Amino acid sequence: MSRTQVAIIGAGPSGLLLSQLLDSQGIDNIVLERQSREHVIGRIRAGVLEQGTVDLLLEAGVGGRMQHEGLIHDGFSIGFEDRAFRIDLRALTGKAVTVYGQTEITKDLIDARAAAGNPPAFEVGDISLHDFELDRPIVRYFHGGRSHEIACDFIAGCDGYHGISRKSVPSAALRTFERTYPFGWLGILADVPPASHELVYSNHARGFALCSMRSPRRSRYYVQCASDEKLEAWPDERFWDELVSRLPADIARTVVAGPSIEKSIAPLRSFVVEPMQFGKLFLVGDAAHIVPPTGAKGLNLAVSDVRALYRALSAHYRTGRSEGLHRYSEQCLRRVWKAVRFSWWFTSVMHKFSDEPIAHRLQLAELDYLAGSHAALASLAENYVGLPEPRLCPTLMAADHHPALTRRAAKLTPTRRVRRPDRNADRLSHPPIRWETG
Ligand SMILES: Cc1cc2nc3c(=O)[nH]c(=O)nc-3n(C[C@H](O)[C@H](O)[C@H](O)COP(=O)(O)OP(=O)(O)OC[C@H]3O[C@@H](n4cnc5c(N)ncnc54)[C@H](O)[C@@H]3O)c2cc1C
Repeated sequence: MSRTQVAIIGAGPSGLLLSQLLDSQGIDNIVLERQSREHVIGRIRAGVLEQGTVDLLLEAGVGGRMQHEGLIHDGFSIGFEDRAFRIDLRALTGKAVTVYGQTEITKDLIDARAAAGNPPAFEVGDISLHDFELDRPIVRYFHGGRSHEIACDFIAGCDGYHGISRKSVPSAALRTFERTYPFGWLGILADVPPASHELVYSNHARGFALCSMRSPRRSRYYVQCASDEKLEAWPDERFWDELVSRLPADIARTVVAGPSIEKSIAPLRSFVVEPMQFGKLFLVGDAAHIVPPTGAKGLNLAVSDVRALYRALSAHYRTGRSEGLHRYSEQCLRRVWKAVRFSWWFTSVMHKFSDEPIAHRLQLAELDYLAGSHAALASLAENYVGLPEPRLCPTLMAADHHPALTRRAAKLTPTRRVRRPDRNADRLSHPPIRWETG
């Protein structure tokens, strides 16, 4: 039996980035991936990165190409009723987002892992996780024509929604929350210049459409489709016709059609599992939560889980302190639920749910309100660029976005015991109240 400190299941962005960051701290790890390298690199998915995601990729030493090729977007547009309005992210929040494909991030990370001499093991079969509720977890798998067994301190389940990690936890120990939307996204990638230099989200009586891009020469477009839609029913011509029919005329005119180089259908769901850890097994990214792609939050949430777990593991190995590990789930879930809420809201406003005329009228009223309200636009922009990291201070939960309140509260009583009128108070053993000022 061999040994490592952290066994990482899955070589998606979560697993690869965690491996890269742990390596930078001298923490031994192995990444086990079910698919081939080509399959992993070929998956076309996310493209909009929050600043926090960009920062962590830079910290991991894999941001060079992203800095060079990524497109900084200071805003995006929403179209409805044949008009469009712009959400000026920079003016509303002081922040922007970066457009850089998940595929490119994955390539950069795989290259970096190989350069560091610790590439993922691809095409690994029959992975099973054991004893993670005890002190010494074990991972068994089949690779290179033989069976392997590896002992570790921790397992990071980075294997996505369909992976083995979450399924290895006894179901009674987990609570799941799920909503499946009655439609999907049909997406195509084409080597044509984008219709607009920023993303355009469009609400239309025929259904939602999104104009996105990967570079100034490569476009990514989506149209809402039925959840049981078949790809064969969508030759390129039909896709382009449908796309332009759902865009405001000014934007539709700028669409350049061309042959698709990839075409796929993605289902839309909201899904969260609680807690995100069980003994020495930590669920990371899509293994623990899924959001509809409308708010561009999935990859960003995955990266924020990685940040929390990486910091907690680093502290554990550096100082022996394990609070970060104990609070991993609590810390991540606060951010996750806010992103689930935002993605659900944005999905609800932009998609066609039924033929009921009142449903579309209500959406149009909400979009009209949004277009004219600074407060509503600021709220949308704040969520889109990414909320700040939550602080673990339950008594100050409402103060997350109000630094002045946090400062005032912190000044009051840094570590004060509350005097209770209760005669038995002295016998209660509450831990001292700690204010975390971030
Ligand atoms: C159409 C679409 C558009 C999107 N757009 C955005 C966007 O703009 N912004 C954004 O932030 N997010 C977006 N997302 C979501 C984003 O792509 C995911 O959240 C992200 O891929 C999560 O990364 P992950 O590493 O946690 O999981 P995954 O990328 O799913 O990686 C999991 C890995 O584990 C492997 N695996 C699975 N089972 C096993 C097993 N038993 N053993 C070993 N390995 C296994 C898989 O092969 C895979 O490589 C989008 C998603 C879709 C589908």
